[in-house]
Amino acid sequence: MQIIILGAGYAGLRTALDLDQMLRERGRDDKVVLVDQFSYHQIVQILHLTATDRSPQEKAIYELTPLLRKTSVEFVQGHVKLVVPDQREVQFDDGRVLTYDRLVLALGAETDFRDVPGAREHTFPLRTYQHAVRLRDHLIAQFEAAARTNDPVEQRILMTTAVVGGGYTGCQFSGELAGWVSELCQRTGAPRGHARIALLHRNPRLLEHFERSSSLEAARVLDQLGVSIYLDTSVTSVEPHLLRVNDGRILRAATLVWAGGIRAPALLANSGFVVDEIGRVLVDRYMRVHDQALVFAMGDCAAIPDGSGSVVPSTASYAMRQGEHMAESLLAEVMGRAPRSYEPLKLGELVSLGPKDAVGSPLGLPARGYPLILLKKGIEQYYRASIESPSL
Ligand SMILES: Cc1cc2nc3c(=O)[nH]c(=O)nc-3n(C[C@H](O)[C@H](O)[C@H](O)COP(=O)(O)OP(=O)(O)OC[C@H]3O[C@@H](n4cnc5c(N)ncnc54)[C@H](O)[C@@H]3O)c2cc1C
Repeated sequence: MQIIILGAGYAGLRTALDLDQMLRERGRDDKVVLVDQFSYHQIVQILHLTATDRSPQEKAIYELTPLLRKTSVEFVQGHVKLVVPDQREVQFDDGRVLTYDRLVLALGAETDFRDVPGAREHTFPLRTYQHAVRLRDHLIAQFEAAARTNDPVEQRILMTTAVVGGGYTGCQFSGELAGWVSELCQRTGAPRGHARIALLHRNPRLLEHFERSSSLEAARVLDQLGVSIYLDTSVTSVEPHLLRVNDGRILRAATLVWAGGIRAPALLANSGFVVDEIGRVLVDRYMRVHDQALVFAMGDCAAIPDGSGSVVPSTASYAMRQGEHMAESLLAEVMGRAPRSYEPLKLGELVSLGPKDAVGSPLGLPARGYPLILLKKGIEQYYRASIESPSL
C-alpha cells in the first residue's frame, strides 16, 4: 500500500515517523511518502523567538532528509497544487503527480488577512521560518534607521510595532519583542524612549480559547512588559506604515505584524473536499474526510469534532497527538482492522510572554511565572528528542 502524507509539520511528521516504525516492527513493506513544500520541518512554536533574534536557525528548523535517514520514509519536496480524489492523485505545481492508496492531509494553515484592504501587501505574517527571518531583519533595519535620524516623530514611527491579533502568535511575539527592545536599542543606538508595541485584538479579551482567568492574566503580564493592548479593536484598512481601526483612529508604525487569523490552504476546497468557513476539511471522529473513504485530515487544516459540538483547537499540542493517533489508524487500515475513534485529550494551554514569564492552565490548573517557561522548554525538548530519535 502507498500512503502519502501531505505536510511535514507537527502532525504529518509525527504520523510518518510512528507509522514507519510500526510497519517495520511488523515486517511490512508498505510505502510511506512524506511531502512538504520546504526541505525542512519547522518548529513553528518558536518562530516568535526567531523573529526577535532569540533563537539560532538550527533550533527553528530540521532538514528533513537527514532527519529521515534512519527510517524508510520517502521524502518528496514540492508544492502541492491539487488533489484529485477520483483518480487518487496528488498534483504538484511543477507538473509531477503522485498516486496514493491512502492520503493524509496535514497541510497546516496560512495567514488569514480577512480581506482587509492593504493587509496582505503591507503587513508581516508570522507562520513560517522565512516569515520570521524577514520580520527580524526588518525590525533591526527600523531601529538602525531610527538611530540615524534626529527627527523624533520619524524615530517614533520607526520604533513602533503594531501587532494585529491577540492569539498565540500575537501575544507570544509581543511579549518576546518587549523583552528584546532594550537590547535592540543598545545594539543599534536607537533611543529607548521612543520604542512602542501596540497589540490590537478584535475581541473583548486576548487568547479567548484559554480559561478566562489565564487570558486576563496574560493581558496583565503584557501590560507590565509595556505592551499597549487595544481590545475590541478591528483593523479596517492598512497602508504603508499605517493602520486604520474601527473607531476611525489611525496608528502609525513602521512594523505591522498580522497575526489576525488563520485559514486552511485553498487547495483543499479547490480539490472538492467539504470545508468549513475557514477552509478546514470536515472529518469524522476517525479523522476520515467527509465522503472520502481513502482520505484523512488532521492538524490545523482539519475541522475535527471535539465531541461536545465544537471543533478541536488549532494548536501544536493537539496536532502532535492527532499525528500519533493517525499512525495507529493507518496501521489499522493496512492490517484490515477497524480504527479507534480520536478522543481529544485536554492537557491545558500554555503561552510564553517574553523570556521570563508565561501563563496557562497545564492539566487545568491556572498558573503563571518562570516555572511555566521551564515546563514549555521541557515539552519542546521532549518533542525534539522524539523526532531526532523516533523510537523514544
Ligand atoms: C508564532 C507561532 C507560535 C505558536 N505557538 C504555539 C504554542 O506555543 N503552542 C501550541 O500548541 N501551538 C502554537 N502555535 C500553533 C501551532 O504552531 C500550530 O497549531 C501547528 O503548527 C499545527 O500543526 P500542523 O501539523 O497542522 O501544521 P504545520 O506545523 O503548520 O505544518 C504544515 C506543513 O504543511 C506544509 N505545506 C502547506 N501547504 C503546502 C503545500 N501546498 N504543499 C506542500 N506542503 C505544504 C508546510 O510547509 C508545513 O510544513 C503557534 C503558531 C505560531 C505561528
